[in-house]
Amino acid sequence: MPNSIKHLTLIAIMMISSISFSQAAEKVEKPEVLARHVILIGSDGMGAYAFEKAKVPHLRKMMKEGAYSLKARSVLPSSSAVNWASMLMGSDPVLHGYTEWGSETPEIPSRVVGETGIFPTIFSLLEKQRPDAKKGVSYTWEGIGYLFEKPWVDLDYNGYSEESTLENALEFIVDEKPALTFIHFNEPDSIGHEIGHDTPEYFEKVEMIDGLVGKLLDALKESKMMQDTVIIFTADHGGIGKGHGGQTLTEMEIPWIIYGKNVPARGKLEFPIITYDTGATIAYILGLETPDVWRGKPVTEAFEKDEN
Ligand SMILES: [Zn+2]
Repeated sequence: MPNSIKHLTLIAIMMISSISFSQAAEKVEKPEVLARHVILIGSDGMGAYAFEKAKVPHLRKMMKEGAYSLKARSVLPSSSAVNWASMLMGSDPVLHGYTEWGSETPEIPSRVVGETGIFPTIFSLLEKQRPDAKKGVSYTWEGIGYLFEKPWVDLDYNGYSEESTLENALEFIVDEKPALTFIHFNEPDSIGHEIGHDTPEYFEKVEMIDGLVGKLLDALKESKMMQDTVIIFTADHGGIGKGHGGQTLTEMEIPWIIYGKNVPARGKLEFPIITYDTGATIAYILGLETPDVWRGKPVTEAFEKDEN
């Protein structure tokens, strides 16, 4: 090939690649806001298997009128803190560094830390990108208190009972109209350790949690907030016998239910959800950009309006 033709070819290639680059750059706009309020409910130790036997009318209603997966997976080990961290931090334990059931600080140095000294959670994305938006956490297990940026939340309440956790969250939600509220319930994990998973006592606690979800739905309807809210209901892990942490699907498979504004009644989702996709999905709903150190993908299938 003569040099001049080589030169022209090179220019043509450069032009084509610069066009496709600018098209790609245009695509990276700030995502639109799908709902003004997101409420994340996490029920400690609620395995997806629980839905086979427990009577959970409120969760069933959300599954029917929204979308769900009973094949979402925990990260490993199938333990608490490592999974709550992954959910809120939108990333994998090898990057955020919280690896155990009760991690209060990361066992592996976090790949990135924010101004409050911890790996960036969904709350820090809100703080940085929408500083006026209110956000809060109400939780029964004190271990949750190590897994978010305390100085940046407007509610930080460690409940003495599941009811007090819910009551405080509801007051905050109705009064402050927050963009994001995370409610953590400690059951049925506690009864799972005490009496055992897959026992009548375990399912009783599952049904109790369903009742609390019902109270939340009522309060949102009454305050007319439901029309601008998305609720995500999930868990950190399931369990087997009197424990969890292992590699069986009974321990790893968790429910993932999404219901509310802009979520059509799609029912069962095919997307292979991992718990860190929850953080990414919340960011997607609230129109927040996610940092490179996050690994979760938004479950966009839940928002697709065309059922084909
Ligand atoms: Zn446990």
